[in-house]
Amino acid sequence: MTLSDQPVRVRIAPSPTGYFHLGSARTALFNWLYARHTGGKFILRIEDTDRSRFVPGSLQDIMDSLAWLGLDYDEGPGVGGAYGPYFQSERLPLYHEWAERLIEAGHAYRCYCTAERLDALRAEQRANKSHVIGYDRHCRTLTRAERAELAASGATSVVRFAMPMEGETHFTDLLRKIKPFDNNQYRDPVLLKSDGFPTYHFANVLDDHFMAITHILRGDEWLSSVPLHVNLYAALGWEVPAFAHLPLILDPSGEGKLSKRKKKGEGDEELLTHIREYREAGYLPEAMFNFLANMGWAYSPDTDLFTRAQAIARFDIADINPAAGALPLSKLQWMNGHYIRELSPEELTDRLLPFLSRASGRPEAELARHPGLPYVAPLVAERLKTLDEAWPWVDFVFQDHIVYDPALLIPKGLDAAGALAALQASRRLLAELPFAEAELDPALRGLADRLGLKPGQVFGILRVATTGKNVAPPLFGSFMALGQARVLARCAEAEKLLETRMAI
Ligand code: GLU
Repeated sequence: MTLSDQPVRVRIAPSPTGYFHLGSARTALFNWLYARHTGGKFILRIEDTDRSRFVPGSLQDIMDSLAWLGLDYDEGPGVGGAYGPYFQSERLPLYHEWAERLIEAGHAYRCYCTAERLDALRAEQRANKSHVIGYDRHCRTLTRAERAELAASGATSVVRFAMPMEGETHFTDLLRKIKPFDNNQYRDPVLLKSDGFPTYHFANVLDDHFMAITHILRGDEWLSSVPLHVNLYAALGWEVPAFAHLPLILDPSGEGKLSKRKKKGEGDEELLTHIREYREAGYLPEAMFNFLANMGWAYSPDTDLFTRAQAIARFDIADINPAAGALPLSKLQWMNGHYIRELSPEELTDRLLPFLSRASGRPEAELARHPGLPYVAPLVAERLKTLDEAWPWVDFVFQDHIVYDPALLIPKGLDAAGALAALQASRRLLAELPFAEAELDPALRGLADRLGLKPGQVFGILRVATTGKNVAPPLFGSFMALGQARVLARCAEAEKLLETRMAI
């Protein structure tokens, strides 16, 4: 039975060397979609063999980001599975065993070259402008006696793969045409390092085989490693999984790689490249999922919006577009606004709470008990592109005292005395009225009429008096969020401000 007849098993294999990147998330998403579409398995494997690049917290960040995006994995850290361990650092005996087997079969050899020798070799190749760059295979041809002597002397060694020295390597990719690769270009890469840890290539090939991976979907930056991997599979006598190398995501200008953060100039916002940054900036996982699925795949030519279930039903590797695409950030913001407005007021309130808490420095539990909270979501839903934009609109609901410039209380066409009179009359009316949104609007319009003012003038004074802003969410909804007592108290305070101003 060949791999293509086996149930689909796909994986992502991130290294815990930094926070989970947008590109990694897209790779994870496509793998997940393929597994869910085919009824196969999606596996998380942690490639933690480069100990010098380990970043504490990054493993947790990978797992948190996957959970946030709703990309559940069937096997991996915290979940287990029959093909574990899922950390490469716990699989060292396997790599050692297979390195020995390759050595015995003549496909690998120990190399005792020192770092100094390799540095000198590189310098010489550069100085001579040599067209072949890389290891000169010095240790490939050591005699048995020379090897024994070096081993006995305790010299440190690495294990190198004996790449075929001629011929071409052929392989296929499900998304793109691949040219044959000239074997002589690859100079005996290291499989096992002197610290006993495997290199990416070796561990990756062994694990994909032993974890019965059927399809490898990963970023196209790994394409250049495939010739080596294919030769390794051949040396080991194993079948090569199917490859699909996913297109690069470019920065929004389409000029550079997204992975390179750059600030282009004054006023340009810093480009967010990690999932946690999008989460912290107030993007919804629903929007992020939909957006990432659009990066190289399309659900339908008619719409960019689709549900997870729809994406699962339609996803196919063959439909992935191999061309690199720029990150359409404005589309993400539009999509996020769409998904914010799809939430029920209760759900939006829940999602807003952590952002309000962060902005105000007050615990979520305290804000959750605030009587104004249930009014907030409807006040801001129409205005938000991201959740973190909410606080400046509704801070007045949660603040005990608002601070503002009293000059704002005086609208065009009125002086302080006129504004004060309008405010006093409004306050008296607001004290008597049934305090309900539907009552307030006609009553205050009637009042403006009686005072010979435009409704906009009266509303403007009240807006500043109660929210401290001249641009704020709808006025009567804001009143409901504040409650009658606070509206009246703030009007009274504003009257004092106007009186003080008149006295000067
Ligand atoms: N450890 C590699 C990474 O960090 C895995 C690449 C692959 O999927 O083969 O992306």
